[in-house]
Amino acid sequence: MRVECEICPHRCKIEEGHVGLCKGRRNKGGEIISENYGKLTGYALDPIEKKPLYHFYPGSKILSVGSYGCNLNCPFCQNCDISMVGAGEVDTAVISCEELVEKALGLRERGNIGIAYTYNEPLIGYEFVRDCATLAKEKGLKNVVVTNGYICEKPL
Ligand code: SF4
Repeated sequence: MRVECEICPHRCKIEEGHVGLCKGRRNKGGEIISENYGKLTGYALDPIEKKPLYHFYPGSKILSVGSYGCNLNCPFCQNCDISMVGAGEVDTAVISCEELVEKALGLRERGNIGIAYTYNEPLIGYEFVRDCATLAKEKGLKNVVVTNGYICEKPL
């Protein structure tokens, strides 16, 4: 049974067992799931200016994480080795939101102010961003979402 994904305006109609255009969401048993949930392809303590934010805590650092997949196909993408691939095409490390927030807290003394969801398009897996950002905020950390903004109103 084909199921329509309601996350972004592509509105992919995905066959059972297949992934959508972004390669991050799959039709599993008639339900669209975020297959890249908690699967990191990149992890680094970056300068906030690299996000690139200029007037947001200048001079600080932010723990930056990303997964795989994207709902755009820009020919100039600098991260195409992770943004344009799907599961099994790139190495991933699985992490829970609790573990990620603990790591972010542990990096505070090195200037870390929070967590940035970046590298691939984070909102194709908005569930992971939502869960981690909620927890991070409770712990006094900042959240930065580096997104192309191509998302439907309801998940936004
Ligand atoms: S998020 Fe992915 S699967 Fe869903 S509509 Fe957009 S491109 Fe298709």
